[in-house]
Formats: sequence, C-alpha cells, structure tokens
Amino acid sequence: MVDRLVNSEANARRIAMVENCFGSSGQPLAEQGRVLVGEGVLTKMCRKKPKARQFFLFNDILVYGNIVINKKKYNKQHVIPLEEVKLESLKDEGQYRNGWLICTASKSFAVYAATATEKEEWMAHIEKCIEDLLRKSGKQPPSEHAAVWVPDNEASVCMHCKKTQFTVLNRRHHCRKCGSVVCGPCSSKRFVLRGQSDKPLRVCLQCYDELNRERARPPNQPAANAPNPVKAGDNAGSGGDSSQDDDSDDDDERPNAEEKHDEPKFYGDGDKTEETNNHSSKESAK
Ligand SMILES: [Zn+2]
Ligand SMILES: [Zn+2]
Repeated sequence: MVDRLVNSEANARRIAMVENCFGSSGQPLAEQGRVLVGEGVLTKMCRKKPKARQFFLFNDILVYGNIVINKKKYNKQHVIPLEEVKLESLKDEGQYRNGWLICTASKSFAVYAATATEKEEWMAHIEKCIEDLLRKSGKQPPSEHAAVWVPDNEASVCMHCKKTQFTVLNRRHHCRKCGSVVCGPCSSKRFVLRGQSDKPLRVCLQCYDELNRERARPPNQPAANAPNPVKAGDNAGSGGDSSQDDDSDDDDERPNAEEKHDEPKFYGDGDKTEETNNHSSKESAK
C-alpha cells in the first residue's frame, strides 16, 4: 500500500516481462490493480513424473507454464484464479519433500519446493493473497475440489479391481472423481462432475456407484445442478484410447535440462517477513 506509486512502475515492468516470456502462447496479464507478488520454479507432479514449472504468483491469480528457456521463454500457460484455490501441506515422503497441494474445482495437483524455507514462503504468500481476496470480495472458498491424480508409476495394477496389470495394451486411466489409477473396464462409466466439465468424465466403478447414490437422495438442490450419469459408449469410442486423459501440460518430452536451482523471488513483502520471522523463537544454532 505504502509505496504504491514507486512500486507500480516496477510492477508493471515485471508483469510485462512475464507476458513477454510467454509471448503469443499466453494471455495478457496486465490488469488494473494486479500485482506480481513472486515467482520461481516449483516441481509439479504430473501424470508421468515430476516436472519443473515456472510459477508466477499475482495477488489474484497463479500462473504457471513449461520452461522452454529458463527466464526467457515459457509456454503452456495456465492461469488459476486464487479465489478458487485451497492449499494443503504435504508431509515429506522419500524423495518427495517440501510439497503441498494446490486444489481448485477443476484441477488439483501437488508441487514441491527445493527447500523447507521456500515451501513456507510460497505457501504463506499464496495464503495471504487468497485471504486478502476473499476478504475483499466477501466470497467463501469453494468446498469441493477436483481429485489429485495418483501418478501412473504408483500403480502397477488397477486400484479398483486390484487385478489388471498395466501394460502397453492395458493402459492406465484416471478416475476424475477420486484420482485413482484404474483399468479400462473399471472406468467404463462416465459422470458429469460439475466444476470440472459440462461433459461426462471418466469415473471408476466405485465412484460411479457413490455418485449415483448421492444423486438418488432426495434433492435439496435445484435439478439443474444434479449430475447426470452417462454410459461410456454414449459419447466416447469404445474406450481403448486414453489420450484424452492426458494432463494438458504434461506432454513435453523435453528433459528438464538445467537442474540448477534458482531461489524464488518475492516482491515488496518487506513489512511482513519481519513479523513472521520473529514469531517463531528460533535458537540461533549457527
Ligand atoms: Zn480394474
Ligand atoms: Zn474413483
């Protein structure tokens, strides 16, 4: 608030830089009142494996994209309105450390920072932006979020029937309701999941049954909101092709060339860092 004028010029320059890096593959980002809060590389859990992605935190949106040339060129831009975002911290597990979930109605995924401190910084800044936004708009955060997809390599057999072994022919599919990796026959049903799409989406048999039970309950919602079950054959082919399953930003085969770590940058948070740092009484070990 204080240095609004001074900062606004630097802010406008930073935002123009981001737009530039995405070029024609991105949408215009400069907008009245929009501030670039921070930026950095996070590892995003994708369907096949974790991949480095460039993230930009604005005061109202979170933008990320694939890194074509570090700090110069990005593509596959995704824009997530922060009003819809809910974060959830993840416990460290093996090689997956310093992670948290970014959940929205249409898509949820895990990201990992390089260090615990960076995770803290990122999460605090995102939470702060969400808080400010919701306070300003008076809106409630959304209660339902899309399932986080279980990565392919975490399931060698179908998580529903526990029998089908996945092979080149027996391909993996993801239930859009629970995120499980399931075989074709166990995900032959479709269901309209509001928030994710108006089209019927692949669900596992268990979720299909649950969704139908929910739907059969006496309605306390307007009928237009009720999800519609659809059989797989109704609109899809016979289900052999799972190419539509692919996460849209998950298809670069480019190896993440430089693994060199850049620390994230957060702008204009000078007033806030002091408070949070003094809060926890750290024994100065060094
Ligand atoms: Zn199965
Ligand atoms: Zn399911």
